[in-house]
Amino acid sequence: MVYMLLAAALLATDPIDDAVSRVSARRCRETVDHLVSFGTRHTLSDRTSPTRGVLAAANWIKGELEAAAAGSGGRMSVSIEEFGVPPGTVRMPKGGTITNVVAILEGSAPGAKERRYYLVGHFDSMCADVMNPDADAPGANDDASGTTVVMEGARALAASHPEATIVFLCTSGEEQGLLGAKLHAEKARAAGVKILGVLNNDIVGDPWGTMHPLLTGKPAPAEMGSYVRVFSEGVPRNPSAEQLAQIRSLAGEMDSPSRQLARFVNEVGTRHNLTIKPKLVFRLDRFLRGGDHTAFLEAGYPAVRFSSPNEDYARQHQNVSEIEVNGRKIRMGDLPEFVDAEYLAGVTRLNVAAVLALADAPSAPSNVRLVTAKLTTDATLRWEASPEADTAGYEVVWRDTTSPVWTGVRDAANATTLTLPFSKDDVFFGVRSYDRDGNRSPVVFAGAAKE
Ligand SMILES: [Zn+2]
Repeated sequence: MVYMLLAAALLATDPIDDAVSRVSARRCRETVDHLVSFGTRHTLSDRTSPTRGVLAAANWIKGELEAAAAGSGGRMSVSIEEFGVPPGTVRMPKGGTITNVVAILEGSAPGAKERRYYLVGHFDSMCADVMNPDADAPGANDDASGTTVVMEGARALAASHPEATIVFLCTSGEEQGLLGAKLHAEKARAAGVKILGVLNNDIVGDPWGTMHPLLTGKPAPAEMGSYVRVFSEGVPRNPSAEQLAQIRSLAGEMDSPSRQLARFVNEVGTRHNLTIKPKLVFRLDRFLRGGDHTAFLEAGYPAVRFSSPNEDYARQHQNVSEIEVNGRKIRMGDLPEFVDAEYLAGVTRLNVAAVLALADAPSAPSNVRLVTAKLTTDATLRWEASPEADTAGYEVVWRDTTSPVWTGVRDAANATTLTLPFSKDDVFFGVRSYDRDGNRSPVVFAGAAKE
């Protein structure tokens, strides 16, 4: 019997590798090209045409997600989400409608399905003038590429059976001030929705920048296209005075829930054999820039941003034009020919692996703390158990205070306390849970309690 179970386990493919294998570079290519074919997807563009503008694009995305949902056996639902924006809004002075497209893949496990994990990309676009709704704004990289991650992610994951719920969110209004994401996140917060991780993809289709083969006429160095940046904030936005005091006293400024989410993505990228690796960047976003993940952070939800390296600002938020390079005429702008479908498929695979790993993991332990009633030379940790029935145990992790990622790990089995024989002065501690299949939760940074 034992041998039969073992053989069955060896034969069964890993659900993550399975989902990853369903991502298609060809479909990524077609999706970007189709999104660009709407001419502009500016949030204030024409809402009556069936072939041009933001609403035509939204309806097409909805149809594609419905086609993906057909493979889910009724577990994935798709809807258009609309919000009214009042006149006087900064980049929507006349007010108007914000349209998002949402697909929800219902979780399969009773104790887990209330938890939600998100793939996000914005499908609105802009030319050089953020208030111009009429000019062509192909937005191939910004952000048809991120929208493609969400849509292709939905196609790849529709046949998967995650324990927690996965949400695929295509927003608009990003260029007008993150409006679609903001209104969605605020509504979720007001309804008490439990969002435990948001993976925002914005500008993820072109890692070649000014070294793009179309510009230079020769191949770019392969290492430029081998990774994607994963941005995460260190200190949570809008912390209470009490939270800030605790962050200061524990030196917790590198250990927000969003930072643990970024480290989780990093571990998934290392564990699975993926072509595009994550590169952690420890700041909210590119220097003084922003994106839809910020709207989720404002609402109190952990969120990170994926962006390809080597941005070329001559092609971002620009009007389509023609330039001459070494005697050759080249179309410039945020055009589909600059998006690399293989690279984009690689970023999609990383997202699919990470979001499924999150949704299949048990919930993280709560109230993780170092016990400090007496001064001791060892470190005792305690935590509250994860409620899910398939939780099999816990791991204590640690790292040097100068290390970006967790380096030490000790199994605590199913105990909810562990003492390690070294000082808590020189390292940071955290705890994560794991289930019977070996899925691990993100880490919870250890606080302190006089117990
Ligand atoms: Zn963008």
